[in-house]
Amino acid sequence: MNTPPVHAPMDQFSRRDDGQLMVGGVPLSQLAERIGQTPFYAVDRGLLRQRVTQLRAALPKSIELHYAMKANPMPALVALMATLVDGIDVASAGELKIALDAGADPAEISFAGPGKREIELRQALAAGVLVNVESPREVELLARLSQELGLPARIALRVNPDFELKGSGMKMGGGPKQFGIDAEVLPELLARIDALGLGFEGFHLFAGSQNLRAEAICEAQRKSYELALRLAQGSRQPVRFLNLGGGFGIPYFPGEQRLDIAPIAENLAALAERAQRELPQAALVIELGRYLVGEAGLYVTRVVDRKVSRGQVFLVTDGGLNHHLAASGNFGQVIRKNYPVTIGNRRPDAASESTMVVGPLCTPMDLLAERMVLPCAEPGDLVVIFQSGAYGASASPQGFLGHPGCVEVLV
Ligand SMILES: *Cc1c(COP(=O)(O)O)cnc(C)c1O
Repeated sequence: MNTPPVHAPMDQFSRRDDGQLMVGGVPLSQLAERIGQTPFYAVDRGLLRQRVTQLRAALPKSIELHYAMKANPMPALVALMATLVDGIDVASAGELKIALDAGADPAEISFAGPGKREIELRQALAAGVLVNVESPREVELLARLSQELGLPARIALRVNPDFELKGSGMKMGGGPKQFGIDAEVLPELLARIDALGLGFEGFHLFAGSQNLRAEAICEAQRKSYELALRLAQGSRQPVRFLNLGGGFGIPYFPGEQRLDIAPIAENLAALAERAQRELPQAALVIELGRYLVGEAGLYVTRVVDRKVSRGQVFLVTDGGLNHHLAASGNFGQVIRKNYPVTIGNRRPDAASESTMVVGPLCTPMDLLAERMVLPCAEPGDLVVIFQSGAYGASASPQGFLGHPGCVEVLV
């Protein structure tokens, strides 16, 4: 008999005997009192530290670890991450401000993203951060602004590779893309950078996101390395920085399992060894967003009403897709599936029932859990959505329908 697929165990969070989920050592109901409102996002700083420590222990020492802060730009979290990783990757002047405020060293910040406006490039130059250039226009603009401001430009070229990341939730390279510069036209641009006398530091490749297949990630990293090696031949300046991307996924849906890091670490070790010979001045970098922060975060919303409609139980909560678009299935999912959900103040072995968890918005899209078996819950109980440390509040339409906003805390 086929058993239906289940969620990976969310055992990074422990429970007290009475069923209270513990966040940073605080029982969930008490945390809700401390915050003074639901809904909220809570990220456990101990879990953030643990994730970085475990990853560093697995990876070769020479690999630099960057945090892609679009995954979660909460200032307190970015400030903590800045102390744990080797660099912060920003994708707008707004994120740049948060990273600088957080105390990140400008020498360790890189700025990627298509369509950088002139003002953003001026800000990047003034801050002294590395710019991952995404078009010939950005090169010309940086040359002019560098002259105008009397400040050196630090340039890396973001490459749109001639391959795709297989099995990726979101493809961001290969084929026609708005990201990066097509590998085919890069030699020309490298020559132009030399002619303009601009400082060239290296390459940035990012093939895609949310991948749970180690072998696909290894293949993309190998191909990225080889492409960069080929392209490096066209530059008079040495490659100092080679960002091989990331794409490490976390399990969100039934049947998904945690990524096996061991083969990726082995593959990176082999690439690092090659780089010592072939690109001796280059630091190898990987940039990760959700893998670093996603599993450490929860979204918590309170049950406002319990209804039964034609036999189906509905828990109506005080938050929904306006705070957590991804959990509603409307952020890049093709077929809606449930995130791992629990009742955070009841024992998981309590009497249970098949439940719809919905938010208060007047749209059927506002769905947080569809026919999930959960402990029977009442108004006042706390619905918890796991795997919510990335692409949460900042990736959700908070203004939609005019409900109160959510709070974000680091515990
Ligand atoms: C979004 C993004 C990331 C982070 O992706 P995750 O799936 O959160 O790891 C890293 N690099 C670039 C260039 C991105 O656009």
